Amino acid sequence: MADIIDGKAVAADVTAKVKDATAALKAETGVTPGLAVIIVGEDPASQVYVASKGRTAKECGFHSVQHTLKAETSQAELLTLIAQLNADTAIHGILVQLPLPKHIDEGAVIQAVAADKDVDGFHFINVGKLGTGETDTAFVPCTPSGSMLLIERVRGRDLSGLNAVVIGRSNIVGKPMANLLLAANATVTIAHSRTKDLPGVVRGADIVVAAVGRPEMVKGDWIKPGATVIDVGINRIAAPEKGEGKTRIVGDVDYAAASRVAGAITPVPGGVGPMTIAMLMAATLASAYRSAGRQAPRF
Ligand code: NAD
Repeated sequence: MADIIDGKAVAADVTAKVKDATAALKAETGVTPGLAVIIVGEDPASQVYVASKGRTAKECGFHSVQHTLKAETSQAELLTLIAQLNADTAIHGILVQLPLPKHIDEGAVIQAVAADKDVDGFHFINVGKLGTGETDTAFVPCTPSGSMLLIERVRGRDLSGLNAVVIGRSNIVGKPMANLLLAANATVTIAHSRTKDLPGVVRGADIVVAAVGRPEMVKGDWIKPGATVIDVGINRIAAPEKGEGKTRIVGDVDYAAASRVAGAITPVPGGVGPMTIAMLMAATLASAYRSAGRQAPRF
């Protein structure tokens, strides 16, 4: 049976270290990391995420601000708020919760966030830094950076000689994940919806990262014995066994079957999910350290 990679425990470890490093930065420089989260509209899932980000930021000792804007807010109003936060020296990280209402151009909003406060890592400057291996100063999207930390806990920081397969090529998960694995010297394949013989491609992988959004698509017999399996997927499916109309969350990997073959595997929930917020805290901390002319701690 595979080792279960406990994302909750690793996330708690990261958050505890962020808290300590925040206290040290405050004591030595008087700087308190500041995180501003903007939410536009009333999407219930977004509200849950934003509340959780604010709560964790406070736990870490951050200056935490939430801007809740009405769904009818114009793009110009949103851009004005972003410009104010870009200029606010008490704020080191700005996060605009996606998705935005349809009348707002998401791309324009993402590029309006100052690159040195873009803790989500979506600005072209940060995408470019990651793509060119400037990983020391790049902000990296939080879900792939959290997945990478879990891989490091199993395989160490140098993945030389290992084959990694990332399934999914989104800008938020798949592509940055592939770049992080490449920066760690893995031999990387990005598979996607047009890939021929996906099971065959995955069978060659020492490390598999599934970021597709299809419940239990990756089967147990696709997994190479001993492989490290990171399941990013979050899919809600019907769970009639729990009662009528009930649902449960599953990943992109058939966990029961894959965990009999893999060397280590993340569960869903409790694997990659908790890492995303922890890495957002780590990114905001890094930004505050840089603003104080200090080297940011590594996790
Ligand atoms: P996306 O829809 O933007 O991208 C999905 C990718 O999967 C695409 O690149 C597509 O080519 C690929 N794909 C689709 N069907 C495929 C198939 N049959 N075979 C191979 N590849 C296929 O999704 P995303 O934003 O990258 O998210 C992926 C999953 O990760 C979703 O389940 C999402 O909920 C989850 N997610 C989790 C977190 C977290 O915090 N844990 C964060 C972001 C996303």
